[in-house]
Amino acid sequence: MASQERVYSFDSFSLEKEEGKHRDKCGIVGIFHPKEDVARSVFYALYALQHRGQESAGIASSDQEGLRIFRNLGLVSQVFKEEDIESLKGAFAVGHTRYSNTGSNNLENSQPFLTRCELGEIAICHNGNIINSSSIREKIQNPLTSSSDSADILRLVCESEGQSWEEKIKKATSELVGSFSLVFLTKDKLIGVRDPFGIRPLCIGAYNGDGFVLASESAALGTIGAKLIRDVEPGELISINKNGVESNYIERGKQALCIFEFIYYARPASILEGNYVAEARMEMGKILAEEHPVEADLVVAVPDSGQWAAIGYSKKSGIERQDVLEKNRYIGRTFIEPDQRIRDIGVYLKLTPIMSLIKGKRVVVVDDSIVRGTTTPKVVKMLREAGAKEVHVRISSPPIISPCYFGIDTATPKELIAFRKNGNIEEIRQSIDADSLGYLSLDGVAEAIGKSLEVFCHGCFSSEYPMPVPQTRDKLVLVR
Ligand code: AMP
Repeated sequence: MASQERVYSFDSFSLEKEEGKHRDKCGIVGIFHPKEDVARSVFYALYALQHRGQESAGIASSDQEGLRIFRNLGLVSQVFKEEDIESLKGAFAVGHTRYSNTGSNNLENSQPFLTRCELGEIAICHNGNIINSSSIREKIQNPLTSSSDSADILRLVCESEGQSWEEKIKKATSELVGSFSLVFLTKDKLIGVRDPFGIRPLCIGAYNGDGFVLASESAALGTIGAKLIRDVEPGELISINKNGVESNYIERGKQALCIFEFIYYARPASILEGNYVAEARMEMGKILAEEHPVEADLVVAVPDSGQWAAIGYSKKSGIERQDVLEKNRYIGRTFIEPDQRIRDIGVYLKLTPIMSLIKGKRVVVVDDSIVRGTTTPKVVKMLREAGAKEVHVRISSPPIISPCYFGIDTATPKELIAFRKNGNIEEIRQSIDADSLGYLSLDGVAEAIGKSLEVFCHGCFSSEYPMPVPQTRDKLVLVR
């Protein structure tokens, strides 16, 4: 089915209404090796994908007789004990780390999900977001006890017609509108699927001789000694079993990888579409320095998100870079997540200024993005309190004016500072109390990655999405 033929029905979808419901941005992995119990390697790969979700983790494995599953709330290191990994026997395994919004962080929504149908048992791990979830829910006869869209996808697969898992998956995914990178585990097969736009990443690697791995990001491959083969293509379905790897397509679409993966979300050491994320971020910093130069004494990164752009800004401008905001490495992203009160104190928990190096200096502070506008004013205040003479803010992406419908938690429109200020840079500058503010242009982001904007989803910056979305149009038109 061509993408235009999809039925776009969002009758009951609204970002406002869905506050409290999850929008997943997650890490997924699947491994097969003919001569190994692979759950331990899945565990290590999940460690490498922890940045994509910190609220729950789980692994399902198959010893070719039956599927076993273990999942719980918490970080990968908290969820699994040695005996849990030991118990997950088998040559096939899939794993998941999950991020969710407030209110939905419960065990019932943790992945993988497991179910049974006439072809046998099947488990799913999903990264992405389905925007026609209510119509999918209506189609399902026997939903699992979970409010998750991913559980519904699994049931849809089971209840769809088909003589093979591949046929069922193809049929089920043709009903989905939104973003989905999926890994499925059956008794004797691993199946990876990427939505026709390839909005969320997924790659395939060679693992320990005869094995294969599917993972959200290539940075997870090095961790387990695997080698990147290539990205799974948009709309591609990859089946892996003891006979090897087979590639098919659920549908060929227009590529629209999420550009925010390059800006913030993916790990710097990952390779997306053939490019190292770190290099792209450094280029963003260089172009930012060209687009928004300023006289200053010091370039400072907001750690860790602004690190690579700050290196680029410093290289291009010739202004020395110093890490004068020291990050407590034992505090993770968990502390800046769902609750606004925690977000408010989060910056002080995370960062400590080195006052003697800041005092009397004109500082350029570089970060990758401003979302709600919680972090940046606090960083500016921290630098001023530490004695900075001037604080110039440089952001290595454009203003975020629209929500993400495809799995990144960039907030509802009314929470986005650039939306609230109608995209007015001067007003944003005032509200963050900076001496100057410069955002990288969208063309600058594409130039830094070395690809045309055409091949990305950049809806959060442009309100132009690769497919129709159920957005609150009125004010967005004003912003544009
Ligand atoms: P905010 O404080 O809401 O303006 O968010 C901006 C900060 O959060 C920046 O330091 C970003 O690196 C980081 N950030 C950007 N996008 C996200 C996201 N989806 N989830 C968590 N943090 C983010």
